[in-house]
Parts: sequence; structure tokens; C-alpha cells
Amino acid sequence: MAGTPSKWRRVRPIQTAEFTLLGDAIWLDFVNTARGRIPSPPDLLPDDAALLRWAGAQRLHLNGERPCLMDTLELRQRLTTLAEALHAGLQPPAGSIAAINRHLAREQGCHQLLRTGGEWQLRFAPLRQAPILQAIAQSAAATLANPLLFVRRCAGQGCSLFFTDDSPNQSRRWCSASVCGREVRVERRRGLLR
Ligand SMILES: [Zn+2]
Repeated sequence: MAGTPSKWRRVRPIQTAEFTLLGDAIWLDFVNTARGRIPSPPDLLPDDAALLRWAGAQRLHLNGERPCLMDTLELRQRLTTLAEALHAGLQPPAGSIAAINRHLAREQGCHQLLRTGGEWQLRFAPLRQAPILQAIAQSAAATLANPLLFVRRCAGQGCSLFFTDDSPNQSRRWCSASVCGREVRVERRRGLLR
């Protein structure tokens, strides 16, 4: 049914005092640091310290690589363009794909044969946990490589947050059914009462 909030969310949204973490995909939470539920929201990554707090809230690791703010904001711009294109049903921009691949190329590890469920599978085994920007790029790559996952912008009034929709009939409309979805339901109810 159109407008029904998705029941297939994997992770419950996390509301920190500083950041809105929807918990759908790390890269969209990252893109959402420059967006929000009000028009012209503040940029939540104004400096290195804020970036480290955001990474901490996402439980991401530095792993000896402290990302520079300029690289971080460049990646965020590339991924914002990507999210907008996906929401509009367009092909991913070449510049966004190139940026993701640039970060993926820095992965360290090797391929390994693993036996799972009675079948041999070829898996990439990382040597270390990905540092912040790499983890964000991996998250975007995972979304793009999943044909059943759709990127949407919230339909809430004044809300510009992006989320992923993996409901069977792609019916998720709001970043949060209890915030943006609730407003719509309240307005509808008022309309009925009138
Ligand atoms: Zn919203």
C-alpha cells in the first residue's frame, strides 16, 4: 500500500543529540549530515572534531588514517550527487562512481575460498577494518550492487533526508514513520475531522 512505512528496516534509527542516524546505510547517514528535516539545515560536519564524533557515533575506526576534512566534504558532495540521481531514477554519475572506486582501491586484503552452506564461495578478506572514508565508500558500493535496494528522499514537508527502501513494493516514503510520517497522518486526520 502506498505510503505504508517499511516494515523491513534492518536497524532501528538512532537519534543522537547531534546527528540523525537513520541506520539504513552509512553513506546516506553521511550525506544526511548536510541535510535535515527543516529547510536550510546546518552542516553537521563543520570541522575535524565533528567528523570524528560522527564516525564515533557510527562506530567507524580511524585505523591510523585521520581523514582530512576537504577529502571528506568532496566525497560527501560526490555521494550527494549520487543519491539525488538514484532518487530521480537516473544512472549514477561517473564522477561519483570514480570517487567510490578510488576509495575502494585502497582496500588491503586478499580473496579467500570459504565453504558456506555446503558451497564454496570466493570472498574478499580485508586485512583490517576499513578507515572512515573507505567504510563510507564500501557502503555506497554495497547499495549500488544491490538491485533490490532503492534510494529515496523523504516525502516529509521540508525534509531532505535520504534513506534506502528495500520493501517488496518500494512503498517507504518517509525517513521516519514516527516523525515525518506522523505529521502526514495528523494532517490527514485533521482533514477528515473538518
Ligand atoms: Zn523525513
